Amino acid sequence: MLDAPLAEAWIRAVAAAVGKEEPRLTELDSAIGDGDHGSNLRRGFTAVLTALDGLPQAGPGAVLTKTGTTLISKVGGASGPLYGKAFRAIGAALPGPAGPAEVAEALAAGLDAVRALGKAEPGDKTIVDAWTPAVAAFRDSAATGAALPVAAAAAADAAERGALDTVPLRARKGRASYLGERSTGHQDPGATSTALVFRALADVLAG
Ligand code: ADP
Ligand code: MG
Repeated sequence: MLDAPLAEAWIRAVAAAVGKEEPRLTELDSAIGDGDHGSNLRRGFTAVLTALDGLPQAGPGAVLTKTGTTLISKVGGASGPLYGKAFRAIGAALPGPAGPAEVAEALAAGLDAVRALGKAEPGDKTIVDAWTPAVAAFRDSAATGAALPVAAAAAADAAERGALDTVPLRARKGRASYLGERSTGHQDPGATSTALVFRALADVLAG
């Protein structure tokens, strides 16, 4: 079950991954954006860690909602509100400890929130291009009766493939879209950070 301690471990693992991969995210965003994606997420998740210290662990949802609210208030770039809304939606869908099917639906609600705010379609070279295959893989895996760690690993693999698959795409949303055709040939920073989010979940559930 994904309970409050595991939800907190997930977010702490995302914070660690974002800290470690900040140079890579910065490099990717320097190529097709303004170079701040790594620092935006590091700043955001550093604030999240502080917000989680001493938070009463009412349930996984409380942890994830707090994560989302903090990201919205601390990150100025496009990714702050997008990830913020996503984590709030995931949190709202997980009031108590949850199994694979419920976690799959919560992650789907996160994707819906990203799409409602950002209006990106799959193929637009955004967060959506990693998140969409990750949700599909999580759902398919859960539907076959897989345990949480197995479903989460399938989702992380799919998110990483989705991020790689953004390389040839032309950006149609966000700052990178200003580059038009010149945005092709580079991996999307946001899809790359989404893969970190899903890999962190898989790692934490693998124990
Ligand atoms: P900013 O673009 O404001 O500098 P960041 O650099 O933190 O913000 O985030 C850039 C990432 O945000 C992009 O790589 C892309 O994946 C994601 N992004 C931008 N616009 C959208 C959108 N409308 N929908 C989904 N993701 C988006
Ligand atoms: Mg940027």
